[in-house]
Amino acid sequence: MSFERLFGSEYALSIVVQKFGGTSVADATKIRNAAARAVAVHREGHQVVLVVSARGKKTDELVGLAAEITDTPPAREMDVLLSTGEQETIALASMAIQSLGVSAMSFTGGQLGITTDGSHSKARIRSIDTGRIQAALEAGQIVVAAGFQGYDEHGNITTLGRGGSDLTATALAAVLRADVCEIFTDVEGVYTTDPRVVAEARKIEKIAYEEMLELASLGAGVMHSRSIEFAKKYHVPIRVRPALGEGEGTLITALDDQTAPVVTGVALVKSESRVTLLDLPDRPGVMDQIFTQMEERKIPIDMVVQDVGSGGVAEVSFSVPEAELAETLTAAERAVEVLGQGRVVSGTNLSKVSVVGIGMSRHTGVAALMFRTLADAGINIGIVTTSEIKISVLVDRDRSVDAVRAIHKAFALHEEITAEPAVGVRREVGSASIAADAETEDATVRGLAGMEDIVVSEVRLDDLQSRVTFSNVPDRPGVLADLFEAVAEGAVVVDMIVQNVSQQGRANVSFTVLRSDLDRCLLLGREVSETWPNCELSFEKEIAKISVTGIGLRTHTSVGRVMFRALAEQGANISLINTSEVRFSAVVAGDAGKPAVEKVAAAFGLKAR
Ligand code: ADP
Ligand code: ASP
Ligand code: MG
Repeated sequence: MSFERLFGSEYALSIVVQKFGGTSVADATKIRNAAARAVAVHREGHQVVLVVSARGKKTDELVGLAAEITDTPPAREMDVLLSTGEQETIALASMAIQSLGVSAMSFTGGQLGITTDGSHSKARIRSIDTGRIQAALEAGQIVVAAGFQGYDEHGNITTLGRGGSDLTATALAAVLRADVCEIFTDVEGVYTTDPRVVAEARKIEKIAYEEMLELASLGAGVMHSRSIEFAKKYHVPIRVRPALGEGEGTLITALDDQTAPVVTGVALVKSESRVTLLDLPDRPGVMDQIFTQMEERKIPIDMVVQDVGSGGVAEVSFSVPEAELAETLTAAERAVEVLGQGRVVSGTNLSKVSVVGIGMSRHTGVAALMFRTLADAGINIGIVTTSEIKISVLVDRDRSVDAVRAIHKAFALHEEITAEPAVGVRREVGSASIAADAETEDATVRGLAGMEDIVVSEVRLDDLQSRVTFSNVPDRPGVLADLFEAVAEGAVVVDMIVQNVSQQGRANVSFTVLRSDLDRCLLLGREVSETWPNCELSFEKEIAKISVTGIGLRTHTSVGRVMFRALAEQGANISLINTSEVRFSAVVAGDAGKPAVEKVAAAFGLKAR
């Protein structure tokens, strides 16, 4: 593959990839501005690739146009239509550059040599044959590239998903080994939260790939999450900068979690829904079946919670963007059919609010502060899930913006953050790990059949934890805050937190704690829960947490299927799950841990060394 070849080649000149989003090329003046910025860098002696989006709201207009013709536009024709938005901009931008006296040439996705898979409207980049781009660059031309599109192996036009021009830019930067990929947009950089929602939001100077990936995946619309995945995998530094103005913006790069702030940002997905599968059989294989159905339709589900089976039936809930709800319900119905038992219900008018920070894993009390803040604002929390670097909650949509504002304020994100020293907590991680070293990982990346294929770098077993579950917890603001404050005050290190609120309005809260903290935790927890009528406290001392580490795990819908199938084949019953873009974890019974970790590692092609 050409990409392979490219990784070995050397370039005399440095290459800069610049991308301008829709608003930043909306009219002739703005296109001239983009052209002038590309020309300025070219005149400094760099080779320049200018990636552009469709102008302004063009893509939305095209979607509307199709809707005027039919309710069910064929996917192939939809991509032919949508790709014209970018085609318009590349021609205009190329003209603008040429009128500034520099030669330029426009290229559509196919002409750029971008080959994708055949999933229209959600295509993934397989490879990029850079022959034509290189020839143009070497001839001194500025390459003007259409974002968001490619060709499949049959030459059909495909699009990469809304916001996909970011992906084109980072992918080109990766294969060309560009010095930097500059993303020019309509804000000054990446902020602690959407500056259009919270006026006090602060621009971040530097952010880690993992944080940006997670924020983008959890709703921060400033970058497409798959573009960050690309950048992390291929070590491309990204700078998000204002299209108008000279600001240096935000650098997205590899950072050390030791000096990172506890919370870096807050993200919001306004239109989220909840899907619940009830009365499922309580046996291994349930998660596997659910994830298999989602994978077939490429639906990335989030906030997966499962109630530890009571009365022989299990219940699984998760969240999906509202736009995917109809298809998710079809997939869930199918899962129930195959499992032979269960029913599907859904909840709408919900939003997902998340806090993200790679420093979080070294601190206690982050969850407690988030829950207390929401309680004080009178906002009830539905589903809760956490991972090492984020906490997500599902809340009523009409309170979601209040929630973001309150959380932003409570964590003082408007203030310049000085990294706090860890508060004496280094999470201990258990015994076994099957991992690829950095060199092997880079070799794997280079050898991928498709550039966007998944890379799993480690499977780990943590066998130092216990599970604690509070069942029948009252479903009202303040309950979680009381519980986790009490636990945090006792310096108990809480790892995974999961809350499910059932159809009947019963909430169940489960979490994991270091086994050495278990007794203290039970004591503190019992004290708080005594005031809750009908609440039951249970625990499992010996559990095993199996974690899979990689890049872009949630958006690669195969990861859940592979992991949960391996666990099902092992006969391991899963009691807790958490997912993020960089880690998937599942809790199983303690004695299942060692064989399970080997099975899962093998399923991802990792070998014990
Ligand atoms: P483009 O058309 O340039 O790709 P987008 O609209 O996709 O621009 O992304 C920029 C927008 O992202 C901003 O206008 C802002 O409202 C929104 N946004 C959401 N979250 C954030 C954040 N954390 N930091 C900066 N902008 C954000
Ligand atoms: N024009 C496409 C969209 O609006 C791609 C992009 O702008 O990144 O989604
Ligand atoms: Mg965008």
